[in-house]
Amino acid sequence: MSTIQIAIDGPSGAGKSTMARRIAERYGYLYIDTGALYRAIGYKILARGGNPGDPADVLPALETLSVTLRHVDGEQRVFADGEDVSDRIRTPEVSMAASAVSAIPAVRAFLLELQRELARKQNVVMDGRDIGTVVLPDAPIKIFLTADAEDRARRRYEELIARGEAVDYETVLADVRKRDYNDSHRAIAPLQQAPDARRVDTTGCTLEEGIARIGAAIEEMMADVG
Ligand code: C5P
Repeated sequence: MSTIQIAIDGPSGAGKSTMARRIAERYGYLYIDTGALYRAIGYKILARGGNPGDPADVLPALETLSVTLRHVDGEQRVFADGEDVSDRIRTPEVSMAASAVSAIPAVRAFLLELQRELARKQNVVMDGRDIGTVVLPDAPIKIFLTADAEDRARRRYEELIARGEAVDYETVLADVRKRDYNDSHRAIAPLQQAPDARRVDTTGCTLEEGIARIGAAIEEMMADVG
């Protein structure tokens, strides 16, 4: 039996994960947050005292590193070398480390088959940067979810403050811009809209408005899938 994939790509902070999770619930699909995989690798490199942007530190680590996803009651947990790092990978430092390791081709190759394998086994909503372009180019439903950098930085800032992180808005905005730049200028699998993806812009939207927009776009595309 073939499976159906919903690919949701876009820059950081556009609300991809929250919206993708809700869409997955709506259709009874498994939600897969691929950013967590890059974060797990970034986290491990930092934990080993390495530089996440330096292939000389990252490549040897890939030889022995194991990264796996497990779903517990529908919630994704990410494990690096058997350790559940799901909560530890959500800091601004690990965000930057994830962006740095993600520009290294060997890291992307390392994660490619793992992501495809997950999508072969069940219907999935997968979010990331290159799902519709590289990981699942044949996905029947592709969304490119975006919003202004300021809007995305404000959401990220509010999330971090709510989690008790000591951050200021200007720093979060600078990080969002830097990650946008890194993600869209890297030589391999840069962040770009797939030609057959539907663009959904959530600038100025509340979460519910954003979900309504993305939900309507997916419903239309689902009707075409049959
Ligand atoms: O989505 P999230 O912000 O958790 O992703 C962390 C980083 O991982 C991104 O900044 C991006 O550099 C990288 N990433 C990627 N390809 C994906 C998912 C994430 O390059 N499919």
